[in-house]
Amino acid sequence: MDEQLLNYLNRHLPPSEDWVKDIEQQAHIDRVPIMDSIGINFLMQLIRLSKPKRILEIGAAIGYSALRMSEANPEATITTIERDDKRYQQAIENITKNNKEAAINIIHGDAIEELTRLAESNNTYDFIFIDAAKGSYKRFFELCFPLLADQGVIISDNVLFRGYVLDPNFDHPRYKKMVEKIRSYNEWLVNHPSFITTILPIGDGVAISYKK
Ligand code: SAH
Ligand code: MG
Repeated sequence: MDEQLLNYLNRHLPPSEDWVKDIEQQAHIDRVPIMDSIGINFLMQLIRLSKPKRILEIGAAIGYSALRMSEANPEATITTIERDDKRYQQAIENITKNNKEAAINIIHGDAIEELTRLAESNNTYDFIFIDAAKGSYKRFFELCFPLLADQGVIISDNVLFRGYVLDPNFDHPRYKKMVEKIRSYNEWLVNHPSFITTILPIGDGVAISYKK
């Protein structure tokens, strides 16, 4: 996005508390791809507006987005899934440090299996945030479908992936496959008969899918 616009928007975000800055720094040092400031503030605003009681997140990393969602709606209970051992441990520490054990339940495991398990126990969620392996988004979305309450919302992060997704000449061996997967996910998503989806150029690209 335009540099001048990003600088302007970043200068006009709500102030964040010290614990937020601490986790952002931790993510920066360990190169954890947490949501950027504009993206996370947008997600938080969606939560303030829609006031979901039950939130499900796929891809906790070190707990940053889960803690920010809880900040936006302290009444919500959040279930979040992370498969990486180290990040899971860091997430537990951050959740404990901020006394959010009651609000945030973190599951250590692969989302493909864990989502199936959650569906078997008849859980439903008002708001689902997909932010894990980009190549598996379609699978995640399909597994989330039975978990989503009526008029619920599914947010997918990184759907424009550094703008590569919209560049017809993009051809980098490292990301080519993933970018193609995101492209086909976006096409599939906007044509899904049970959802109305809008894609926004916020953060790394956010898709908002509303269940009809
Ligand atoms: N939502 C976080 C960032 C998540 S980064 C934030 O903004 O603060 C993506 C995370 O998804 C990584 O930590 C990665 O380990 C995890 N992940 C990727 N694929 C997964 C899967 N299949 N199951 C569970 N976690 C997964
Ligand atoms: Mg992301």
